[in-house]
Amino acid sequence: MTALRRDIHAHPELAFQETRTADLVAAKLASWGIEVHRGLGKTGVVGVLHGSLGPGGRAIGVRADMDALPMPEQNRFAHASLNPGRMHGCGHDGHTAMLLGAAQYLATHRDFEGTVNFIFQPAEEGGNAGAKAMMADGLFERFPCDEVYGVHNMPGAPVGTFSFRKGAMMASSNRFDIVVRGTGGHAAMPQKGVDPIVIAAEMVGVLQTVISRTKSPIDTAVLSVTQMHAGDAYNVIPDEAVLRGTVRTFSIEVLDLIEDQMRRIAETLPQVYGATGELKFVRAYPPLVNWPAPTDFAADVATEVFGAAKVLREAPPVAGAEDFSFFLEQVPGSYCFIGNGNGEHREATYHGMGPCELHNPSYDFNDALLPIGSTYWVKLVQAFFRRG
Ligand SMILES: [Zn+2]
Ligand SMILES: [Zn+2]
Repeated sequence: MTALRRDIHAHPELAFQETRTADLVAAKLASWGIEVHRGLGKTGVVGVLHGSLGPGGRAIGVRADMDALPMPEQNRFAHASLNPGRMHGCGHDGHTAMLLGAAQYLATHRDFEGTVNFIFQPAEEGGNAGAKAMMADGLFERFPCDEVYGVHNMPGAPVGTFSFRKGAMMASSNRFDIVVRGTGGHAAMPQKGVDPIVIAAEMVGVLQTVISRTKSPIDTAVLSVTQMHAGDAYNVIPDEAVLRGTVRTFSIEVLDLIEDQMRRIAETLPQVYGATGELKFVRAYPPLVNWPAPTDFAADVATEVFGAAKVLREAPPVAGAEDFSFFLEQVPGSYCFIGNGNGEHREATYHGMGPCELHNPSYDFNDALLPIGSTYWVKLVQAFFRRG
């Protein structure tokens, strides 16, 4: 698994371009006698393994993501990225390797009744929604799953500690554009036009009232304006000003509320000044909401295998987003984090100077997690079929 992981790490591929990785995954699965299906979500791969006690009526889905990030790697160890400007900075190389390890083990220990669907998805990063693309290609119609599970490594948490949480565990991610249209003109004669910059600047502040005044203080949400664009000259009032940014919430209800109020502000505030405004709001990933019973089940398996001291059952939510949330909108299941440690696993001389955090150019997946993660997968699958 370490050799596989480092091979994938050295050959990072971006969203929907994971052809080498998918070739590798498909070849490994086939060599272990697992039925391989390709082309779901362009580069996604599904391995289907039937138990030797019969296909039974039940099936479990276990998922790894395969894509890398458009960023340079600062590490200089032997398995550092060979593709300039691309890096496995989120540990999807490790997720893929440990699911392959579990697939190999289960292929040679088929003493169960039912079906395991190994789901290797493309394009988790950057709002590309590879999970949704696989669903659009009939993932759960062609490979029905009674339950589906996912894991992600978590730097900073002690190596091999598991974090579970029932309900909302990760945020929805959404992006917006607001265009304020005024009337441009000479900067020395503002009375002859309608200045969109002054309106947009005021709107940045007013938008913060959506968080502080519109939603309940109990509900968590973030609204960040991250871009302001307007004008090209010192002495010209432009026609337009554009604001862009992101919104994160842990429920769809709060998201609906926020989008409605943002639209009201974007459209009516400019009217006060004789301008017009328009909101374009794009929902990328929904909140990741873990199902209660599958979460208890997965946490019980982790506790039984690794001990209660290694398992956090009520971990705090994380404001990041994850497209496994699309799976959980349709199929019961649960997603957890496994601690990646503090970076002490990296080679002393050849790693980058930065922290071993996700999306940092000095990050590296901790190979000590490979046997832990694949053991979790194997035990989870076995317990699922034992459970009946
Ligand atoms: Zn990531
Ligand atoms: Zn990731």
